[in-house]
Amino acid sequence: MVSIPVECPYCHSTEVIKAGKQANGTQRYQCHNEQCALRIFLLHYQDRGRIPEIRRQIVDLALNGSGIRATARVLRISPTTVIAVLKKSRRAATRQPHVAASPSFTRRPRLRRTRRRAR
Ligand SMILES: [Zn+2]
Repeated sequence: MVSIPVECPYCHSTEVIKAGKQANGTQRYQCHNEQCALRIFLLHYQDRGRIPEIRRQIVDLALNGSGIRATARVLRISPTTVIAVLKKSRRAATRQPHVAASPSFTRRPRLRRTRRRAR
């Protein structure tokens, strides 16, 4: 018999209990840390869009100005997954609105090059 210690991927607590199974038979686990935001987790996710690290990267890419389709391409997940994660993400939702460029920043007129005459 081999015992494998299960650690919460979010808070790294080992106070973890079994919490039933997924429809596909994968064991689910529940974190017993009260401060932990992630309560139910799996050790091996079937789809990449469910992995907590990938979900964090989706929000990071969105805050860096990446588009939905670009994020989906880079992380090899579906664009609809990207939208779903961003809708649920509190960090992306509470983002401050984009501040308009200050009035001191005005576009400098481009210098025109004088055309040389061919002789
Ligand atoms: Zn936890």
